[in-house]
Amino acid sequence: MSAPGAPSEAPGGIKSPQVSFRSAPSLEAPVFEVGSLSVYYGSHEAVRDVNLTVGHRQITALIGPSGCGKSTVLRCFNRMNDLIPTARVVGKIRYHDEDLYGREVDPIEVRRRIGMVFQKPNPFPKSIYDNIAYGPRVGGFKGNLDDLVEETLTHAALWDEVKDKLKSSALALSGGQQQRLCIARTIAVKPEVVLMDEPCSALDPIATAKIEDLMEKLAEEFTIVIVTHNMQQAARVSHRTAFFTADVDDKGERHGRLVEYDETERIFSNPSDRRTEDYISGRFG
Ligand code: ADP
Repeated sequence: MSAPGAPSEAPGGIKSPQVSFRSAPSLEAPVFEVGSLSVYYGSHEAVRDVNLTVGHRQITALIGPSGCGKSTVLRCFNRMNDLIPTARVVGKIRYHDEDLYGREVDPIEVRRRIGMVFQKPNPFPKSIYDNIAYGPRVGGFKGNLDDLVEETLTHAALWDEVKDKLKSSALALSGGQQQRLCIARTIAVKPEVVLMDEPCSALDPIATAKIEDLMEKLAEEFTIVIVTHNMQQAARVSHRTAFFTADVDDKGERHGRLVEYDETERIFSNPSDRRTEDYISGRFG
């Protein structure tokens, strides 16, 4: 295996001299433990038998070709699949050792603690200020809202760019700023986990780099799970990586599978499964 920071020489390495892999903290006291998770849409089993553990204050990346179930799995972590009438979740997801799908669990509270940022920036058609203040207001926040807005925007590396136009429409911001605003809106209600579904795929490289820097900073305080089709991004930002692929059955239906889950450095420099190696080296057919 290559030394951290060195270009990978192993077959299947991504050979980017800029990649400096992040060492993965331990998985003790995990945030999520996923066991034998399968998700169906109607009768279609979209993803099958997933087992993985998400560590506290780590960035976990879900990668793999389109349609292999990454977003489906991500949505299980905050019960967003509950909102899709045909979706059915089978298996276990434990959140701090509690059944996330237990009968007594309130999905609204789940989504407050486990926030989500989507592929396309989706600020509310309101002012920058009101985008941040919205969640805390709804949650009955009693402190100083101005301070909270400033603190949150600072946290999301956006304050300096917007402090003089807090009352302007969020929709007038650039795409990258809108996405950082959406991240700020998510963290304004003080979640523990932030789920990110391809958060940079609509952004240019400079805006992407800003979000990646921000993620690194946010991981000091939040647990992050990110779906990305950009392998270099997974290699750059994450501590652990789960590689998914899809098997095609004799009816031509695709069933997503988790092939391999490990520390990111290991996945990119010395994967144990040939399919992972083929994918990260671009040999995926
Ligand atoms: P990925 O994120 O890896 O691209 P998805 O989780 O979006 O994969 O999709 C996995 C499979 O589930 C695909 O076959 C997709 O068509 C199907 N799927 C995703 N969302 C829905 C939905 N809302 N209703 C029906 N099928 C869906």
